[in-house]
Amino acid sequence: MSERISPRDVNVLFFGPPGAGKGTQADLVAPVLRAAHVSTGELFRAIQREETPLAAQVRAIMEAGEYVPDGVTVAMLEAHVKMLNAAQPELRGVIFDGFPRTPQQVAALDTFLGSRAEHVDAVVYIGVPLEVLLPRLLARGRADDTPEAITTRFVKYENATAPLLVEYERRGIAVHRIDGNQAVEAVKADVVAALSPLFKGQASRGT
Ligand code: AMP
Repeated sequence: MSERISPRDVNVLFFGPPGAGKGTQADLVAPVLRAAHVSTGELFRAIQREETPLAAQVRAIMEAGEYVPDGVTVAMLEAHVKMLNAAQPELRGVIFDGFPRTPQQVAALDTFLGSRAEHVDAVVYIGVPLEVLLPRLLARGRADDTPEAITTRFVKYENATAPLLVEYERRGIAVHRIDGNQAVEAVKADVVAALSPLFKGQASRGT
């Protein structure tokens, strides 16, 4: 066994269909665990408000409910995590919300974490029945919550992203299945209960 010379981040992935509450829960749980909440969707929503050619491209892709190309997504994510590590060394880990979404992103995350002697520690799957998700998304009213874009996002999730969960299970990584069809606070309590042991005793980079 090799000695750890510096504290490493706990890396947790949040999975679930569109509208399951990944962002809401990551926001609530991150401060409790002293983790960063990294949402590629939020990062893209910030980028698309800029006035650049990339912004226009990202806006069109998001409004259609398609996935932004892997190269763009991975570069953005890595730059953001490195920035966070430097700016907030007190954090103990990262909650990845909405990433990875494709096999190529899984491989890129492996390489990125591997280069830091880290790995994916756990996966949280927030499950909500389809008939509950649709009204939730339509009520939310985001620019990409049109019936057409919602349909595309569901299909992409089922085809490209849901199989990734099986891949992480096959590797023996803990996948915590949480009932997302409960009150927000109840879901939060379940997620915190599932993840607290991982973060307990974890030193931050700043200590
Ligand atoms: P979200 O906020 O996670 O629902 O993401 C909103 C939109 O951002 C998605 O429908 C995609 O267009 C884009 N997006 C977010 N994360 C990714 C990702 N990991 N790969 C590709 N596109 C993404």
